[in-house]
Amino acid sequence: MPGAGSFTRGIFPELVDEYSCLVANSGRMTILRSSTPNAVSVDRMKITVISGGVGGARFTRGLREHVRRALPGTDLHGAELTAIVNTGDDMWLTGLRITPDLDSVMYTLAGENDEVRGWGRIGETERVSAELRAYGVGWPWFTLGDLDLGTHITRSHYLRSGLPLSEATRLITARWPLGVELIPATDDEVETHVVTDEGTMHFQEWWTKHRAKLTAQAFVQQNFAAATPAPGVLEAIADADVVLIAPSNPVVSVGTVLGIPGIREALAQTSARVVGVSPIISGAVVRGMADACLTAIGVETSAFAVAEHYGSRHSSDQRDGGLLDAWLVDETDAASLPDIEALGIRAAAAPLWMRDADTSAQLAADALALAAPAG
Ligand code: GDP
Ligand code: CA
Repeated sequence: MPGAGSFTRGIFPELVDEYSCLVANSGRMTILRSSTPNAVSVDRMKITVISGGVGGARFTRGLREHVRRALPGTDLHGAELTAIVNTGDDMWLTGLRITPDLDSVMYTLAGENDEVRGWGRIGETERVSAELRAYGVGWPWFTLGDLDLGTHITRSHYLRSGLPLSEATRLITARWPLGVELIPATDDEVETHVVTDEGTMHFQEWWTKHRAKLTAQAFVQQNFAAATPAPGVLEAIADADVVLIAPSNPVVSVGTVLGIPGIREALAQTSARVVGVSPIISGAVVRGMADACLTAIGVETSAFAVAEHYGSRHSSDQRDGGLLDAWLVDETDAASLPDIEALGIRAAAAPLWMRDADTSAQLAADALALAAPAG
């Protein structure tokens, strides 16, 4: 199995023992409850997350929480945790570069996000947006908060002074002790556009204005073929002990990241285990409208179908280019484990709802446990 060489028993001894024990007892791990890796183990790990916006942000926050609990009193400022974040939803609006997924992850990790509304900054006001509306510029259905606009102005300032998005992101995120290095998947502008009966539009217009109700015929990434991974992206994949595919939109979040030339290849070649977490629970999306994206590319909204869509990295009878070593599904989807394993993907079931710090941290622990070799 790829990765077994670099992911030694020494890194996760107790997880290997527990996993071996589960397999020995049941023949198949169905409900997985990992123990917490000890401090030394996590401390030595490089974990890279492939992330979209809200789902990826919650998952990455849970991962950081899990690692913090395993490393009490340790400053996580190092780059042990890295999130490679989707930039396909980005756009220029009223002269500003908006990067919704990067900002969702940043605000969530900074504790600055509006948990109730689900996006943007907490304690937000919208005076500037009201002015923009009065002038008739921008998208009236796309409200940007005043604090949020401060971020966009700062980013646009950096970009206009010639810095790439990755460097602008580094400078902006330095404001908060995130404990996770955020890297945009690419510095190039790869906006996702959606082809519909009513014309082709920016993803944000389809998603926010039309609430994904217009039937999508295709998703087209502008400037995709010419894009290159941002500095640090390929290294974060190649050098990782574990790569975690967040429970993010498989099409316009993870799919966009994977489509940037070089990233899928890096994931195929890394010695790290690649473990995905299903964004689909019991045949439905948890938050958002990702089912509309799956339907558009002919993938059923189920944990199994998303695993099949991502594919296995290492089964000889699988098509080339598969992504996953392992796939974590919700307990309610445990019946699909044999079918997922038949694809050549190690599978386990655990609670996947990220309701709070405890459930999110436990989910991250379960995903990491699934990366441990079978012994
Ligand atoms: P977006 O860019 O803001 O749309 O966010 P992402 O692409 O990162 O994630 C969207 C996906 O996250 C949706 O498909 C949701 O089903 C999934 N999601 C949100 N919350 C949870 C959760 O608590 N558990 C799981 N497993 N998935 C979730
Ligand atoms: Ca997004």
